[in-house]
Amino acid sequence: MSRTITATIDGQSTTVPEGTTIYDAAKQVGVDIPVLCHNERYDPVGVCRMCVVDTGGRVFAAACVRPCEDGMEVKTATPELERNRATLTELLVADQPPRAEDPKQTTTGDNLLLALADGYGVARETTELPCGSGRGADSSNPVIDVNHDACILCDRCVRACDDIQGNDVIGRSGKGNSTRIAFDFNDPMGASSCVTCGECVQACPTGALTNKSIGLIPIRPREELDAVDSVCPYCGVGCALTYYVDRSRDAIAFAEGRDQPGSQSRLCVKGRYGWDYAASPQRLTVPLIRRDTSYPKGPLSADVRGDGQNNGKQVDAGGEGRKKGKDRGRKPGGLVDYAEVLPHFREATWDEALDLVARKLLEIHGIGGQGAIAGFGSAKCSNEEAYLFQKLIRAGFGSNNIDHCTRLCHASSVAALFEGVGSGAVSTTYGDVVNSDVVIITGSNPTSNHPVASSFFKQARRRGTKIIYVDPRANAVAEHADYYCQVKPGTDVAFYNAIMHELIRLGLIDLEFIAARVSNYEELAHTVADYSPERAAQICGVSAEDIREVAKVFGEADAAIVYWGMGISQHTTGTDNARCLIALCSITGNVGRPGTGLHPLRGQNNVQGASDAGLIPMFYPDYQRVAAEATRLRFEQSWGTTLNPDVGLTVTEIIHSALEPGGVRGMYMLGENPFLSDPNINKIRKALSALDFLVVQDIFLTETAEFADVILPASSYLEKDGTYTNTDRRVQLGRTVMDPPGQARVDWEIVQDIAQRIGLDWSYTRPSEIFDEMVALMPSYENLNYENLGLSGKLYPNEDPANSDGTVVMFNEQFNTDDGLAHLVPAQWLPPRELPDAEYPMVLNTGRLLEHWHTGSMTRRSFALDAISPVAEVYMNPKDAAERGLAHGEFARVRSRRGTIELLVRVSHREQLGNCFIPFHFREAAANLLTIDAIDPVGKIPEFKFCAVEIEPVGDKS
Ligand code: SF4
Ligand code: SF4
Repeated sequence: MSRTITATIDGQSTTVPEGTTIYDAAKQVGVDIPVLCHNERYDPVGVCRMCVVDTGGRVFAAACVRPCEDGMEVKTATPELERNRATLTELLVADQPPRAEDPKQTTTGDNLLLALADGYGVARETTELPCGSGRGADSSNPVIDVNHDACILCDRCVRACDDIQGNDVIGRSGKGNSTRIAFDFNDPMGASSCVTCGECVQACPTGALTNKSIGLIPIRPREELDAVDSVCPYCGVGCALTYYVDRSRDAIAFAEGRDQPGSQSRLCVKGRYGWDYAASPQRLTVPLIRRDTSYPKGPLSADVRGDGQNNGKQVDAGGEGRKKGKDRGRKPGGLVDYAEVLPHFREATWDEALDLVARKLLEIHGIGGQGAIAGFGSAKCSNEEAYLFQKLIRAGFGSNNIDHCTRLCHASSVAALFEGVGSGAVSTTYGDVVNSDVVIITGSNPTSNHPVASSFFKQARRRGTKIIYVDPRANAVAEHADYYCQVKPGTDVAFYNAIMHELIRLGLIDLEFIAARVSNYEELAHTVADYSPERAAQICGVSAEDIREVAKVFGEADAAIVYWGMGISQHTTGTDNARCLIALCSITGNVGRPGTGLHPLRGQNNVQGASDAGLIPMFYPDYQRVAAEATRLRFEQSWGTTLNPDVGLTVTEIIHSALEPGGVRGMYMLGENPFLSDPNINKIRKALSALDFLVVQDIFLTETAEFADVILPASSYLEKDGTYTNTDRRVQLGRTVMDPPGQARVDWEIVQDIAQRIGLDWSYTRPSEIFDEMVALMPSYENLNYENLGLSGKLYPNEDPANSDGTVVMFNEQFNTDDGLAHLVPAQWLPPRELPDAEYPMVLNTGRLLEHWHTGSMTRRSFALDAISPVAEVYMNPKDAAERGLAHGEFARVRSRRGTIELLVRVSHREQLGNCFIPFHFREAAANLLTIDAIDPVGKIPEFKFCAVEIEPVGDKS
């Protein structure tokens, strides 16, 4: 037990644990000591001296760093202390820019220095001290202003950038009065390695780092704005944030990270600056029906028509697109051309559009039966919307053809986890990394795809956790890793089998855990016996020596977690890859304790929740099997209907079925854009064109909407209440920030209106009612309700949400399988489906960028995100580029057996020889025109991470 200290602060006695600072102890007894450099989120440094207090010693002590001592008597506000603080404040404000010239100094409400100056009655305008530091300003970042004159060198931004986000961008340059904060080597902020996370802006106690206004909304003082607590809509990290809304303009002024046990007030560039898309003038605001003259049906804009119009080329990035300078490669808009597409639709009333949707879907159902109807839900929508949507397709049309983008991200991980541990969710949180000695991060690029989670990984490493990074691309995480294994793509099974081979050989396995909690170990050991490090090295490209070393480091850890991403799951061997990771943790006893576990980092903000809520063809909510009669009967009773006992089709199977006689004929597309997000666009184009009826419910005119018969204008997450479940199993409330534009409506209401029109007796009046119905059917969510979720949300399972944050570590006693054991499933390495050859000698890997999200419909309409990352690029190793006569910034043509795209070359040392990477956000260079639609036989996930391509120059058309 730690020792306690009793001290007196301004006459109040307090007992605190040894090591408690005077500042913290004072806070506990309600005494606020003024600070500038200190903030509880950062390690104290005591540089500003504003917090000095009188402890009776020879000199005053900085309260933020000085620990309490037994018997210490502290005075925090003597006349002498206050005089010192006033003088210090006056010295600092003398160097500040004049307030009148810099209104932003008072706008974000966090200008602690000016608040102190006002309190002490000192000002630059009245001081007799020499004024101004002349250190200049920097406006090079699209959304952050730097005013060096306002900087007091408190180092809060340095600690925010380095210690919290782990970005290590800010330091200091210069000497004496010319000292200023510096980005990298004193580069302009916009040209530095800054990733615009805005953590430094949130940290700055003066007007030195401030948000620029986005969308011409002037940033007004915080106290004049309306604060709405919500959740970030982008990735599965699910950061908590607060929107500051200017009600006089009905617009968001700025966003800030909010404290929550997971994200702890952190945000990345998307969460902090990527919300303005919701105010885009391109929002759909009225229901649309395809004009009779625009049949026979098909895609409407020239580039989406593609095959037959452009000889398989998605779009010519030339002409308008081949500009010079920073706009080089940028196609105007980069999105659906509204002027080209909208004339093919006419405006309709809601009643007319909904009647038509209900009539057509019922007609198709009447002719083709249950199998003729399918729905794609959205992992961007709330749990309540996902639940209602799957209920509509199941109860209304008797069809289990209901799926969503989980099929494209972690379906294979979920399949392997279900088989192995009886649950598709993570066994521990991303924050549990602090309790690990060693973590493996594999097939994942978290600094881009899960940026706030990656900040915890980087922070843990600074505190001693070892990081083993395994990925074909030498992403930024590799620079933070203790061991980096650059595996060849598609060789994970060989690599991990060799790691397990070595662990068994060295005896670094947990025999007790295996005996008590694992089944099929012998079979696994037999399989991995064939994977010596030497043999695996020939397959995966990592040396046998490195494999041995990494195995030893992992095996010797007391507590280890494996975090993985879509580099593991998006393969035709995705399930096998995940099986290996489950086996690796199981045989080393690394499940069920703090700092141990299995964590597939979920992609979308609500892919966990949408899966939990039953947007999956083989499961009702909470992964209750469609094929299990008792389960079906329970749902039939609850929903008052008869349900289909047959498992439905997955995303990829539905697309395939639409091309088959007697297959899917009518589809309801809620917030998905498969034209760009699914593999092999030419096939998607044919499938969407072949449908008899397609209704698209979305916030923008997407590429998929070009194929629609009816388009329903929906709500962004800012315009509705609902819950979202993040990668950690944290269920959080998103709250309404503003109303939907025009006639657009919230999604659950639209789904309910269609349900009522097809004869379902639904009468939900608010999302919380839907949530309560869900929870009653979902044992994992038991006890949760809108009231007890609170501001931070709650992890499930949770026995007492009123008093507990929920379960961090799962499986501490047994797994969720029928027998409570982890079921090991050995895997043999199999090569990817389409190997490079003489005609297509390179391997294409696809994925996301930090600044963009999926098909770009949101992020490309965000000022900040589009400004930072405006163009499509193919990332190539310099040697591969040089061999093809390509230089950085030149146009290249990338072709596969399925299509051709043109885009700029980005020469990157992060790429392996013979490999390239293309993000899939850019319609003008759609990566999925190149990918193959081969799928994993178990998880049915496509092989987004491996197909054969060739890259060649297109000549100088600039
Ligand atoms: S915005 Fe983020 S990365 Fe950039 S300097 Fe500030 S803290 Fe560092
Ligand atoms: S890390 Fe993910 S959830 Fe957090 S702010 Fe960024 S995109 Fe949003």
